[in-house]
Amino acid sequence: MAVQASIDLVGVNVIKSVFSIDGKHFTVQTSANVSLDRSGTPWLPPGVVVAMTTEQDLELDAPVDPAALSGAEQARDLLHSWYPQLHTPSVVAPVISTSDREGGGVGCFFSGGLDAFYSVLENRAEITHLILVHGFDIDPRRPKPYERISAGAREVAAEMGVELIEIRTDLQFLHTRHGNNWGSTAHGAALAHVALLLSPHLRKVIVAASGSYDTGNMTPHGSHPDLDPLWSSGNLEIVQDGTEAHRIDKAEAIKDSDLAMRHLRVCNLNWDGDYNCGKCEKCIRTMINLYIAGGLERCETLPHTIPIERMNRMHVTSGAFPFAKENLDAMRARGIRDAELEAALQRILDRTPREQRILEYRWLLLEVAPRVPRVLIGLLVQRLRTIRADRSSHSA
Ligand SMILES: [Zn+2]
Repeated sequence: MAVQASIDLVGVNVIKSVFSIDGKHFTVQTSANVSLDRSGTPWLPPGVVVAMTTEQDLELDAPVDPAALSGAEQARDLLHSWYPQLHTPSVVAPVISTSDREGGGVGCFFSGGLDAFYSVLENRAEITHLILVHGFDIDPRRPKPYERISAGAREVAAEMGVELIEIRTDLQFLHTRHGNNWGSTAHGAALAHVALLLSPHLRKVIVAASGSYDTGNMTPHGSHPDLDPLWSSGNLEIVQDGTEAHRIDKAEAIKDSDLAMRHLRVCNLNWDGDYNCGKCEKCIRTMINLYIAGGLERCETLPHTIPIERMNRMHVTSGAFPFAKENLDAMRARGIRDAELEAALQRILDRTPREQRILEYRWLLLEVAPRVPRVLIGLLVQRLRTIRADRSSHSA
């Protein structure tokens, strides 16, 4: 069996691909406010990752760029070296050289976050386009938060004198439906899909790094400085930027930018259409970054008081622990004396697995359930399955 992807050209700005997986058809649609590449190349990264998880080979009917095909095989091998349980599919596709084509701009993915603002400002001289995606950290079924985020991104692009490319895609559903963990395996492939679709306009796309090499959080990840460039093609280079900087370095770099302080958006919950909720781990983490860097009071989009009480009962995923440690280490290294905040960060790092579970359940019941009942049911079912699987493996 093989995952088969066939391209359906709906229009200049809209492209669909039908993935046949285990005899079932799954359609992904990506659209933009600009024309899109019509070859099979942009479908290589998501196709490879899905084939790895579903343990099948990959067959594309549309021609792909030879450099992208070779790079996709290297990306597959790197992901397999990180996650040996994943299959290493063969990739079959007709090949067509595209390296002599147009596309002279330089794009940067722009969510409005700390990493994105840092990379945009650091590379301001060469960036010609910002790329905003509706469908990755913003659920494509929720228009309200996106409208505000889109308006903010349009203002940033206008003030910088660059173009804003807006993408809408339901690609994330392909991955979640077929068992790919968005963060650990699929995220970079999804970004590469968008970047490669924009090759008629761009020669290079910058992905803002979310980790730095010297803080211990540069672990295998779906978007990683060693992985993302492998998804490049003969006429579009994908690079990661910002791995040299911690979040606090980045906060320091952007705190004097009025543009960043007026538009910074870090929240990915966006409950009730909030720009930043000011209460979730990501918002609070960033408030602390800015506080340490001496810029919190300049930021117009986040509260200026760190909610210590809330930190004590806030659910923090294991992936976010290095960021709490980074903040605590930076406070100590810089001699910032704030006993209350220091103690709150230390309490998070000292949590036992049992305390973590209790806070996770509390978050699900008190904060998620009243807002999105269906999400709660899904998360609870997932959690109960994990607990049951853990118990049976311990009793085996
Ligand atoms: Zn938030």
